[in-house]
Amino acid sequence: MTTQDIYELFAVKYAHHGERYANLNFIGGDPHDGPMPLDFYVWLARGTKRSFVVDLGFNAETARHRKRELLRNPADGLRLLDVDPAAVEDIILTHLHYDHVGNFDLFPKANFHIQDKEMAYATGRHMAHRPFGEAYAVEDVVGLVREVYRGRVRFHDGDAELAPGLSVHHVGGHTMGLQVVRVWTQRGWVVLASDAAHLYANFQEVRPFPIVFHVGDMIEGYSRVRALADGEDHIIPGHDPLVMRRYPAASPKLEGICARLDVAPRG
Ligand SMILES: [Zn+2]
Repeated sequence: MTTQDIYELFAVKYAHHGERYANLNFIGGDPHDGPMPLDFYVWLARGTKRSFVVDLGFNAETARHRKRELLRNPADGLRLLDVDPAAVEDIILTHLHYDHVGNFDLFPKANFHIQDKEMAYATGRHMAHRPFGEAYAVEDVVGLVREVYRGRVRFHDGDAELAPGLSVHHVGGHTMGLQVVRVWTQRGWVVLASDAAHLYANFQEVRPFPIVFHVGDMIEGYSRVRALADGEDHIIPGHDPLVMRRYPAASPKLEGICARLDVAPRG
């Protein structure tokens, strides 16, 4: 039996969307509508043998176009954790939406791990319809297709262990091929839910986010994520500003920028 590596796990905040109201974060709106901003993250799982970057955010041009506030390029955010983007070998893409896959050109050595279904979805019939296609950036998708031909995309179909103590799991829902990442840490199994749950409220109150391919799969996904994690506080939503408040900073000078997820949340 191979022993599981124990990973350090970090969230790096790279962008913010403040002009956002709660009724946009839930199907059916929100009876107590008020400001409910979103944060944007990439994640790092640092093992003793291998490390994995999870998602790649977007760049300055996309931020202008989509009216999001870019705080730092995600590659620069990772540098704050002593990651050299030019040396990164493994990148997990939870899905190919614009805020998860931009910047892949800044990681020249990396392989990209995605689900078969995500590439099929992002290049298939549903993209002709605005509700499904609008969160994709066609240049990113085409760029990833080029990486397929260069042999740099690693396809997975369902559940796959990428290294002892780190695995990906197809969930779908938000997109056809969304995957979550399960990581073994000093506090047990932590799940990076990415957009399987944008916010804590989405899965805790079973109120799905409105950008969705399949609502049934999205709601099933909440149960799947719970089953994969060692507890409710071991689930990390993809866009919730509370993550930065609940988890301690990776170091005092990284307060509000990099949070440590392999330790217990505060309070
Ligand atoms: Zn997202």
